[in-house]
Amino acid sequence: MIPAQFDYVRAGSLDEAVRALAEGGEDAKVIAGGQSLLPLLRLRLAYPDLLVDISRLNDLRGVRDDGASLWIGALTPHAEVVTDPLIAEHCGLLSEATATVADPAVRHRGTIGGSLSHADPAGDLPAVVLALDATLTVRGPGGDREIAAADLFADYLTTSLGDGEILTGVRVPKLGPGWGYRYEKFHRTAQSWAIVGVAALARRTNGQVAEARIGLTNMGSVPVRARAAEEAAAGAEADRSALRAAAAHADEETQPPADLHGAPDYRRHLARVLTARALAAAAGV
Ligand SMILES: Cc1cc2nc3c(=O)[nH]c(=O)nc-3n(C[C@H](O)[C@H](O)[C@H](O)COP(=O)(O)OP(=O)(O)OC[C@H]3O[C@@H](n4cnc5c(N)ncnc54)[C@H](O)[C@@H]3O)c2cc1C
Repeated sequence: MIPAQFDYVRAGSLDEAVRALAEGGEDAKVIAGGQSLLPLLRLRLAYPDLLVDISRLNDLRGVRDDGASLWIGALTPHAEVVTDPLIAEHCGLLSEATATVADPAVRHRGTIGGSLSHADPAGDLPAVVLALDATLTVRGPGGDREIAAADLFADYLTTSLGDGEILTGVRVPKLGPGWGYRYEKFHRTAQSWAIVGVAALARRTNGQVAEARIGLTNMGSVPVRARAAEEAAAGAEADRSALRAAAAHADEETQPPADLHGAPDYRRHLARVLTARALAAAAGV
């Protein structure tokens, strides 16, 4: 279908983009890679009056080493996240999970900022930034601010970004020594969208898991941390049966959706099985 009519501004600077968005009010929308927004426009599920194109803002593209953390510009395409050596070295969970997003064509146009702002609970990256304890950097009419990933995802396809605010980047704390990771995802062969996904991190010392962090994809209207499984894994022996016992708690306090691809109980089962696999791989057993 052909999208409804809209005005179009290609921003030459971040401040110009913020101004245009603020002037456009609630009927204005940012467009980055267009991989999620264009299908919505064509299906007339979204009909903004104004699109503010930020795709030429090169300051928002690329990866910076800030010492204890990496800053990844919001416009960095998935394909660059997958191949970036700093991301591979310091937060390889993000490279691993991003490599599972869609296909090469989508990965070359779609951006990390677009994925997070779109806030699709079936998207792979929201659960990953949650597990990595990342922070989002934002510019808006009121200036710059930072939002913890845990506070970004408000509801299905809804974030806590305010009117006129643009996500500028993602700050990811570097993983120190002893951390392992794994993104496990169950999806149909024809489509890479997760029926359920699990992003797990484990820090191992003296044969035990000292700390675990687990983010779940598509187990609710927002990505969630599997806190009960994290607590059960902390202090457990780093062996498969102990980690399977911890993973049995993975679906607690989740509200998985029912759709053509699976009933809630099926998703709960997948979350437990995938968490056991992901934790074992992250702990290196
Ligand atoms: C065929 C196909 C398969 C896919 N498979 C997967 C998959 O397996 N896993 C997965 O995770 N994703 C998948 N995706 C989605 C893909 O990851 C998109 O790239 C991503 O969701 C959106 O990024 P974008 O840059 O294209 O954003 P856009 O489509 O440009 O924007 C998406 C939304 O975010 C807003 N937005 C964008 N950038 C910003 C910003 N910097 N600040 C504020 N708001 C912003 C827009 O206003 C819009 O509401 C798939 C997409 C397609 C088309």
